[in-house]
Amino acid sequence: MQPTAVARYHPRDMNKALVLTLLLATSAFTFAQTATSKEVDAVYPAAHELYLDIHQSPELSSHETQTASKLAERLRGLGYEVTEHVGGTGIVAILKNGNGPTVMLRTELDALPVEEKTGLPYASKVHATDDAGHDVPVAHACGHDLHMAAILGTATIMAQSKNSWHGTLMLIGQPAEETVVGARAMMADGLYTRFPKPDYALALHVTNELPAGIIGIVPGILTTAADSLRVTIYGKGGHGAAPHTAIDPIVIAARTIVTLQTIVSREVKPGEMAVVTVGYIRAGTKNNIIPNEAEFGLTVRTYNPQVRKQVLAAIDRIVKAEAMAGGVTREPLIEHYESTDSVYNDPALAERLRPALEAALGKQNVETTAPITFSEDFGYFVGAGTASLFMRLGGADPAKLAEAQKTGVTLPSNHSSYFAPDVEPSLRGAIEAEVAVLRDLLNGKPSGLTQR
Ligand SMILES: [Zn+2]
Ligand SMILES: [Zn+2]
Repeated sequence: MQPTAVARYHPRDMNKALVLTLLLATSAFTFAQTATSKEVDAVYPAAHELYLDIHQSPELSSHETQTASKLAERLRGLGYEVTEHVGGTGIVAILKNGNGPTVMLRTELDALPVEEKTGLPYASKVHATDDAGHDVPVAHACGHDLHMAAILGTATIMAQSKNSWHGTLMLIGQPAEETVVGARAMMADGLYTRFPKPDYALALHVTNELPAGIIGIVPGILTTAADSLRVTIYGKGGHGAAPHTAIDPIVIAARTIVTLQTIVSREVKPGEMAVVTVGYIRAGTKNNIIPNEAEFGLTVRTYNPQVRKQVLAAIDRIVKAEAMAGGVTREPLIEHYESTDSVYNDPALAERLRPALEAALGKQNVETTAPITFSEDFGYFVGAGTASLFMRLGGADPAKLAEAQKTGVTLPSNHSSYFAPDVEPSLRGAIEAEVAVLRDLLNGKPSGLTQR
């Protein structure tokens, strides 16, 4: 399957008379596809070059200094007004083009502490020191390099076709998505006060679950809210042979963990999505010593904000009550150390933009897909007055994906050492989709009706 083959076709030597004839003879729908593809052809080499460069020089969350400056420099060269160091290493690039709405398009900047094992000639060999002082391999295993390359291609087309839209285009490079702190840091640094507050916020993310170049739309809730919690139970240490002189935090922790499993099964309404997972438990040093403390860590995933509140309150209640039942003299410590809201796609906006995407990519290349259980901090950009659409972008080689579906052996997911999107069709699809939705929202003429 070649999902974007139709959308990409264009005769390079098409002269103006022929363009005019075609324009008159065919529907705007057909013309829009061809013209956008031609525009993508023109910007593709520079976008691909940036992809290869950034792929081979990945940087960890909150340390994306070189990455940010590479993107900033290119956007500045296109005529965007670029501000660096927003919320740490974040960048904001503004292109004003008369009256009209403000539309924000976001890319992430960060890579992951993952060793790339794709075997690709441009595989990352980078190592860096993480925040804990450890030497770690670094790779763009989530595909944020592809998002940056796409935004460069999109930025170029938009800057060169200012007669196809009007309003304010706001491109942002967000740091630290993987640690879910970057979006909040940019907001706290005045993203919507120092710069225009967008009417619309857009983003996309590459996935191996869809064929390369396909756009997946999820109307409504897209990702889960995620909460990371650390619980410390304070007991009273002693000799393993004299439990009556101690308060055993291991037994209390074990009981607590079992009771926590009843939140989803007994308290949350059936059909509502909620996950409560205890991912680790740590206590003790030796078989005949009762330790002073026990610690365990949880991840909580929910879609519905009310359910999220309910689950977190239940965890708090159960942890405290089980500790009290165990006779502790000090209340347990419950730390919420990482959290992010779910990402919500405005269903009306998704439906409004679907025709523009279908016109640009071909109807068969735009799918409605199910929500995903991953989490994302893009939700912090969305709120009163800012509607959003976060698209899924297919990144899988169609033949490999078809084989995976046949054998049941799934392709490497984002964050895997082996994650490697099929670059050209994914990158082209991303640029086509971004330009299509931007032109639609920026009250432009149909995609492609530019001066080219
Ligand atoms: Zn990721
Ligand atoms: Zn990601």
